[in-house]
Amino acid sequence: MNNLQFIRPASVQAACEALKNPGFMPVAGGSDLVVKIRNGLYPNLEGIVDIGDLAPLNLIRTDENRVIIGSGCTMNQIINDRLMQDYFPALVKAAATVGALQIRNSATIGGNVANASPAGDTIPALYSLEARVLITNGSSTRKVPIDEFFLSPGKTLIQAGEIIEGFTLLLRKTRGEFLKLGERRAHAISKINMAVSTWNDGRNHWRIAMGSVAPTVLRCREAEEFLESCAQIDEAAINKAAEMAINTAKPISDLRSTSAYRKRMAGVLLKRSVTAIIK
Ligand SMILES: Cc1cc2nc3c(=O)[nH]c(=O)nc-3n(C[C@H](O)[C@H](O)[C@H](O)COP(=O)(O)OP(=O)(O)OC[C@H]3O[C@@H](n4cnc5c(N)ncnc54)[C@H](O)[C@@H]3O)c2cc1C
Repeated sequence: MNNLQFIRPASVQAACEALKNPGFMPVAGGSDLVVKIRNGLYPNLEGIVDIGDLAPLNLIRTDENRVIIGSGCTMNQIINDRLMQDYFPALVKAAATVGALQIRNSATIGGNVANASPAGDTIPALYSLEARVLITNGSSTRKVPIDEFFLSPGKTLIQAGEIIEGFTLLLRKTRGEFLKLGERRAHAISKINMAVSTWNDGRNHWRIAMGSVAPTVLRCREAEEFLESCAQIDEAAINKAAEMAINTAKPISDLRSTSAYRKRMAGVLLKRSVTAIIK
């Protein structure tokens, strides 16, 4: 770590310029990257570009019918934001489960998504809210639906010279839930997590996304469509949707859990989430 160059750019443009060098990586909160560098995961890394103090990335703002969450917003910023609480509870609840208080003070939403971990907790919530990812190269920005952003674990559409600028969400009031199962109540990587968001714009919409059950987050489209078709969501309907979630999950067995447990828990989390929302 001693020989790394450290760049603190004055603007997003300058950060992207420095990141054209493939030997450099951006750092936001550092809660993940610093640990990985210390553990020797990036032996060829030449330097890091600190984007944590770039003001335009650290804001939550509205623009007509959209909300733009800067990539540098921390978990605690999201948790404590009134608009986020009122409109996007699934994301607020997801942010509230990341690490513990100190981690949530530094961990950013951009870092959580850029990591592209199948267990990243804000990712299913962003899927359930149909977020778009804003990717900038410093002079122009492209907008990508979140479900097209991830290629495989740890791999995204981001190229050298680009960073995540933020995320856009349609400004609509949703109800939502986020649940995760880990080894412990805090400081635990999810064995499985699930976000559910629902809204009504004349008809009911349901969005359900789960993590840690496939290489990238999965939408439970069959269960979504089924719930949308129900005149009333009762216990039988919830049980049927839970079966659909179990069939959608394609988990593996690894150090943290078995495939069979994760599959069963997909049904349990769906039941708990939908029940909590319709209460
Ligand atoms: C003790 C501990 C507990 C944790 N618990 C959880 C948990 O419960 N749930 C969970 O999901 N995660 C957890 N994490 C992982 C980590 O804290 C989160 O993923 C966090 O949100 C990462 O954000 P950061 O700003 O700290 O990222 P950083 O460490 O700064 O960066 C992480 C990665 O993202 C890249 N990056 C950062 N910002 C951008 C950007 N704007 N554009 C492009 N690339 C970018 C970096 O280059 C790096 O590869 C935990 C970590 C620790 C150490």
